[in-house]
Amino acid sequence: MNKDCLFCKIISGDIPGDITYEDELVVAFRDINPQADLHQLIVPREHISTTNDLTSSHQMLIGHMVLTAQKIARDNNVAEDGYRLIFNCNQHGGQTVYHIHLHILAGRQLTQLG
Ligand code: AMP
Ligand code: ZN
Repeated sequence: MNKDCLFCKIISGDIPGDITYEDELVVAFRDINPQADLHQLIVPREHISTTNDLTSSHQMLIGHMVLTAQKIARDNNVAEDGYRLIFNCNQHGGQTVYHIHLHILAGRQLTQLG
């Protein structure tokens, strides 16, 4: 828990989040500014600032985040049409919240990256 971190506060319940899924490792909630019909964020309970801070000790956690995204896609009936998973890192990656999160976007034809 980082007391200055927005996503740590959502995880702890200090500020409200539209939570859709949680387990012992991760919490998922709807993005406050959705870019598609389905836009959720999957975040680890552990505070990790950027993907640069990941180590081999996080391998299972990262796999679990991706499998959680797959479950969200299935539960929302978008798995077959498809979806996009994104980690943004630091300034050039467009990261604005410094607690790693996996975006899942779906529900429309997504355009090219960049
Ligand atoms: P990124 O630019 O990858 O760091 O993504 C941060 C995401 O967090 C953006 O898509 C924001 O819309 C989203 N966001 C910011 N504040 C909140 C919040 N309080 N609840 C849910 N999503 C948020
Ligand atoms: Zn945090």
